[in-house]
Amino acid sequence: MNVADSQRVASALERLGYNHTTRPEEADVIVLNTCVVRQSAEDKAVGRLNSLRPLKKRNPNLVVNLMGCLVGVKGHDKLRQRFPFVDVFSPPSDPGPLITHLTQDEVRASEEEDTQQRFALMDGDLILPTQERGNLVSAFIPVVYGCSHACTYCIIPYKRGVERSRPVGEIIAEAHALARQGVKEITLLGQIVDRYGKDIPDGPKLWDLLRILHNEVEGVERFRFLTSHPNWMTDELLDTVAELPRLMPHIEVPIQAGNDEVLTNMRREYTAETYRRLVEKIRARIPGVSIATDIIVGFPGETEAQFQDTYDLLAELKLDVAHLARYSPREGTVSARRMPDDVPDEEKWRRFRLLEDLQERISTEINARYQGETVPVLFENKVKGRWRGRTPTNKLVFVESKADLRGKVLPVAITWTGPWSMQGTLPMAQPVNGIPLPLQTS
Ligand code: SAH
Repeated sequence: MNVADSQRVASALERLGYNHTTRPEEADVIVLNTCVVRQSAEDKAVGRLNSLRPLKKRNPNLVVNLMGCLVGVKGHDKLRQRFPFVDVFSPPSDPGPLITHLTQDEVRASEEEDTQQRFALMDGDLILPTQERGNLVSAFIPVVYGCSHACTYCIIPYKRGVERSRPVGEIIAEAHALARQGVKEITLLGQIVDRYGKDIPDGPKLWDLLRILHNEVEGVERFRFLTSHPNWMTDELLDTVAELPRLMPHIEVPIQAGNDEVLTNMRREYTAETYRRLVEKIRARIPGVSIATDIIVGFPGETEAQFQDTYDLLAELKLDVAHLARYSPREGTVSARRMPDDVPDEEKWRRFRLLEDLQERISTEINARYQGETVPVLFENKVKGRWRGRTPTNKLVFVESKADLRGKVLPVAITWTGPWSMQGTLPMAQPVNGIPLPLQTS
């Protein structure tokens, strides 16, 4: 979400005539976009912010813009005191305050003006920043801002505000704009993306939106969406994924814990059994699907036996990917206020490593099935001399090639698999005079 938000700020800045630089010391404007979902992310953001202090001292004309969840939607008086060298504070997904600050002389915007609204009018014809235009293969479109679910551990609803679905027209316009600029893959984003449209009476739902995009937007090879909440994964959505060839068979649906009492304390509003049945259904309806999940270990009160339930369920379900996190109390959340953070740090680490080992074995086993198969890979960029791309199921594939593969979907024969990535080769074209030719790719 922050990557998408930052792109939109860069785009807005370029419209004002600014150019991108990779060197902070020569910048006139620095935007620091932040995440605070766990304490470690917040610490990193604060560390980065403090590292800007000397730059501002040396160049008082520098505009420092703090953006994102460190700021949040609810005001920032405390932050202003703590970081007096910050010139502009912007809530998540909102370039408005920065643009207003930079154009102050022309626009006398009132404090109450809904900058989100104003920006929304601009971003229908989103223009990617110069360094990404024609280069960026895979882009994000936020379709639901904020979140209203309020899992007890989660700070996001406090920082990103209530759930707001964007109008279909705006999303389609953005998708067309991205396609025109060379984007080949679009991932729709929301904290609970499968709730898209629930806040608009009689509005289209996520599956309607996906069908419209699929029908109307040409040039985009792949569509994806994330993150889903188990309770909103309807049959219509799953059937849409199964049916539309350009909608990729990959589902990100966090379980968070495999024990019902922990799930209740987290206020996730489903049980381990409903999640198990959901996974069965996803697999039955979408052949070859890959499934990713998120897990929090060491939630307040999580006993060894409760953790074991999570371990056993993961071992049973054998999902493709598990994003693991150690519970981190976040100020203002229900769990931080009412539930003591009573699992010791070493124990959180121990549980984390046990799941990490388990998942490594599972991912190794699943990925090994790709050995010798030929799969369509969309190539994005070159990393350390090798082309990096992904399969429809979102597996990372590396290929050596001198050709320019960026933005191309090509069949790749998988020659090596590991838990986190695979390697493969491009099939050779027919040999000419006995000398094999590399596949023509342009
Ligand atoms: N709205 C999305 C993403 C939330 S943030 C969702 O519900 O899936 C991404 C992940 O961070 C979450 O899925 C959760 O596993 C983790 N997370 C959120 N708050 C956390 C906290 N306080 N401590 C540890 N992990 C947390």
